[in-house]
Amino acid sequence: MNPNSKYYLIGGGIGSMAAAAFMIRDGDVSGDNIIILESNPLMGGSLDGAGDAQRGYSLRGGRMLTTDHYECTWDLFKTIPSLTSARVSVFQETVAFNEKHPAHSMARLVDRRRAIVPVTSMGFSMQDRVELLKLSQADEEALGSSAITDHLSSGFFETEFWFMWSTTFAFQPWHSAVEFKRYLLRFMMEFTRIETLAGVKRTIYNQYDSLVLPLQKWLKGKGVHLINDCKVTHITNQSAEGEYIVTAIQYQRAGARVTITVHDGDLVFLQNGSMTDASSLGSMTSAPNQLTKHDSSSWALWEKVAAGRPNFGNPAAFNGCIAQSSWESFTVTLKNPMFFDLMRQFTGNEAGTGGLVTLKDSNWMMSIVLAHQPHFLNQPADVQVFWGYALFPDRIGNFVAKPMSACNGLEILQELCGHLRFDLDVLTSANCIPCTMPYITSMFMPRQLSDRPLPVPVESKNFAFISQFVEIPDDVVFTVEYSVRAAQMAVYQLLGIDREIPPVTRHDKTLRVQFDALIKAFT
Ligand SMILES: Cc1cc2nc3c(=O)[nH]c(=O)nc-3n(C[C@H](O)[C@H](O)[C@H](O)COP(=O)(O)OP(=O)(O)OC[C@H]3O[C@@H](n4cnc5c(N)ncnc54)[C@H](O)[C@@H]3O)c2cc1C
Repeated sequence: MNPNSKYYLIGGGIGSMAAAAFMIRDGDVSGDNIIILESNPLMGGSLDGAGDAQRGYSLRGGRMLTTDHYECTWDLFKTIPSLTSARVSVFQETVAFNEKHPAHSMARLVDRRRAIVPVTSMGFSMQDRVELLKLSQADEEALGSSAITDHLSSGFFETEFWFMWSTTFAFQPWHSAVEFKRYLLRFMMEFTRIETLAGVKRTIYNQYDSLVLPLQKWLKGKGVHLINDCKVTHITNQSAEGEYIVTAIQYQRAGARVTITVHDGDLVFLQNGSMTDASSLGSMTSAPNQLTKHDSSSWALWEKVAAGRPNFGNPAAFNGCIAQSSWESFTVTLKNPMFFDLMRQFTGNEAGTGGLVTLKDSNWMMSIVLAHQPHFLNQPADVQVFWGYALFPDRIGNFVAKPMSACNGLEILQELCGHLRFDLDVLTSANCIPCTMPYITSMFMPRQLSDRPLPVPVESKNFAFISQFVEIPDDVVFTVEYSVRAAQMAVYQLLGIDREIPPVTRHDKTLRVQFDALIKAFT
């Protein structure tokens, strides 16, 4: 390896940050030779968390992790020291936190009568069981670009199982049957505890504070160049004898156009596509703007790079229909404990032990999560923050006669209080910041195998993809793990690192539990 080689990472999501860490830890690359170029003002990409008690906090998402899966993520975070103690890794502090605050939801589903739904039965019919079994064993190539609805009958989508599974993982009936099948196998262990979410592990704070910040600190300490507000617009290549070699990267920063020459021995990694591209925040008085990929940057570069190159994937399969890939979240900052007190009385869960509470009959299909407080590093003790989301923001509400997408923060709180039968007074002084995400489930869109490139396409000599939109056998998208695994695969292959990548744990095989037996146990 040439000690002067440069390593360019386009995009500053957890995928690129993980790639930089693997290069340093496992590839003996000097941090000073690694450059991350990110269009946003902060690193971390979709793994965000921002704000303060005055302006209000905002999270596009709240992430659930597990320690029974997420093999590459923990392989990475076993190396990264906690922000508070250099002797403890992020992995160790997360495990210790979860031992102290185990998840055990007592109100996973709430119905239109405001009653907590008993969820010891999954509600399957015999037909559901047969169809699920068939789908779980189907060949991915045969499933092709079919949708979940092509394999499961309408009754399945009314089962308690579907309400819990779809809101835990954000599946819609029209999403990819292949992705759904992969989830069934990858998270088979969760079948036995989906109603309590007992398998879920949380970070101490939001994931920006608990994962991105410690990793960023470690990378900076190693000399990695983290460049924000830098939009990469073009990648120049030379294609000789069928080989693809990147020769230059063009970016815009502070009004200037800059070209980086990519020399022999340098490597380039691209984050192709982003689930939070074109996302937009509203406020208590305004609904978020409805943006599209044309207002943003992430998809555009992948579209350019993949044009005319079938092995570089097909972005249109993922970003072609906002109506099928969008939903909306919201973050609420409170300066009055009344809402948290009422939720504790209603659900029986202290904040941080319950996880998702889904209002299953709400038109918007709303869920909320009250995380352990404080949820932000800079959160004062007398402030509480919770997060929620809705799978159908295009539908008229039950208590607000508007689609959620047209609602401001106050209207979203009215709808929420309507379902919970709380007086709106309990949310006096609340600041609700809505967030619309047009491509949030773009990874779940029905697709052919060839629509996702391999992390390192066969003809590539110095270029790789790191994202949710690459093909990794058996693993599941919409997870931090998928991006970290893609990073590890791309880095190890291009740098020739001879270290085993932690395999995807096959709980479906190692548990030796027949899928049909599991389903029977719950019906
Ligand atoms: C609402 C929500 C809920 C979630 N829930 C969970 C969960 O429960 N469990 C879980 O494991 N995961 C969850 N996730 C998913 C997880 O956060 C993502 O899978 C992961 O963060 C994706 O990381 P990434 O690095 O691949 O991509 P991203 O985070 O999307 O980063 C890509 C980055 O590249 C930048 N970029 C792209 N193109 C360019 C360019 N041309 N120039 C410069 N910069 C560019 C983008 O600006 C972006 O910052 C959730 C995500 C969200 C949003």
